[in-house]
Amino acid sequence: MIRFEQVSKKYPNGTFAVKSLDLEIKKGEFFILIGPSGSGKTTTLKMINRLIDLSKGWVWINGKKISDYDINELRWNIGYVLQQIALFPHMTIAENIAVVPELKNWSKEKVAARVDELLKMVGLDPKEYRNRKPSELSGGQQQRVGVIRALAADPEIILMDEPFSALDPFSREKFQADMLEIQRKLKKTIVFVTHDMQEALKLGDRICLMKDGEIVQVGTPHEFLTNPVNDFVREFVGSRKLSINLNELITPVPVGEGFLPDTKTISLSTPVDEVLEHLASFEQITVEENGKAIGNISRQNAMKVMSRYLREGGQIHE
Ligand code: ADP
Ligand code: MG
Repeated sequence: MIRFEQVSKKYPNGTFAVKSLDLEIKKGEFFILIGPSGSGKTTTLKMINRLIDLSKGWVWINGKKISDYDINELRWNIGYVLQQIALFPHMTIAENIAVVPELKNWSKEKVAARVDELLKMVGLDPKEYRNRKPSELSGGQQQRVGVIRALAADPEIILMDEPFSALDPFSREKFQADMLEIQRKLKKTIVFVTHDMQEALKLGDRICLMKDGEIVQVGTPHEFLTNPVNDFVREFVGSRKLSINLNELITPVPVGEGFLPDTKTISLSTPVDEVLEHLASFEQITVEENGKAIGNISRQNAMKVMSRYLREGGQIHE
C-alpha cells in the first residue's frame, strides 16, 4: 500500500536524515516508526504526504508514485495528526473537524452528521462540544479532536507524529485504547511515530526501529521481544523493562487445551513488569496469541527464572 524504494533525504544544510530506505507498509496495518531523537522518523513520515520532498528514490501509494498524485488530493486522502495540538483557535470544534470534508464539497447535512458521529466516537457529547472553541476544551480533549479531524473525510491513511507525547499518562492510556478501537473498527492504515517502546509494543502490528536515518529492524512486537537483531534493539526494547524474555517464563500448553479458569489472560507482548504485577494476585496466568491459549506462567516458575536471573547479575530495572 505504502512503499518506500531507496528513499533518501538530504536537507540543504547537508544533513542526511534518511538513507536509502526500503520499506513496505501494508493496507490496514498499524505501523510504528520508532527510534531516538534525530533518527529520521518525522522526515520519513512527512515524505509520505509530500510535506517534505524526497532527495532520491520513490514512494508509492497503491501502486502509484506520490509525485504523480495531485498534491491536494493526496493530502486530503491522508489524515495527519501532530504532536502539538493544531486546531484553528477562532473556529468551533465542528468547524475544525469539517475542514477537509468541506474542501471535498460534502453536503452540509453529511458534514454535520459526520462531525457528531466522530465526537461520539471519542466520548465527547456533540450537543455540548460542537459549538465550543478549542480554548474551552482541556488539552486531552483538544488532542482527541485533532485525531478525529484527521479521520473526518475518511482517509485511507493516517499519519501520526508522536500524537500523545504531550499528554499526561492517564490521558495517554485512554488515547492508546481509543486508537486500538479506531483501528479495529475502521481498518485504516496508520503510520505512527513514537519514541516510546511500550507504546509501540502495545499499538503496533509491526514496528520499524530507526537509527541515524537507517532501519535497524522491522518486525512484529513479538519479534522485537524474542529476536532483537542486535544490542541496540535489545537496549531499546529493554529500557524501562525487565530484559527477561516473556518466553522464558511460559510453560506451553498442549494444543487444544483451553484457557485456565478464573485467571488473568495476557498476550505475548505484555511487558514483563506488568506480568509480574499480575502474578502478585494470580497463582497462574494464561498467555494467548490470536485468541488461542499458548501457555501458562505460574508464579512458582516466574520466581525460579527471576532468582536465576538475579543470581547471574541481571538487573531488574534499568
Ligand atoms: P526524528 O523525528 O526521528 O527526531 P527528524 O526526521 O526530525 O528525526 O530529523 C532527522 C535528522 O534531520 C536530524 O539530524 C535533524 O536534525 C535533521 N533535520 C530535520 N529537519 C531538518 C531541516 N529542515 N533542515 C536540516 N536538518 C533537518
Ligand atoms: Mg520527530
